[in-house]
Amino acid sequence: MAYLPEINEEKCIGCGECAEVCPVDVYEIQNEKAVPVNADECIGCESCVEVFEQGAITLTEI
Ligand code: SF4
Repeated sequence: MAYLPEINEEKCIGCGECAEVCPVDVYEIQNEKAVPVNADECIGCESCVEVFEQGAITLTEI
């Protein structure tokens, strides 16, 4: 099973919480937005989804 983490740039406030909690360093903050630069590494733990209640992050099984 693979997972695709995606950021809604309109909702992302660049807080960096997702980058802090992700155990495999999927996210980088670039120009005050989270970018899933290592999306291939995602293990689907949902930590980033749970930490950010504004719904900026969606996780899709692929
Ligand atoms: S679901 Fe887990 S592994 Fe995947 S991007 Fe979010 S925090 Fe990282």
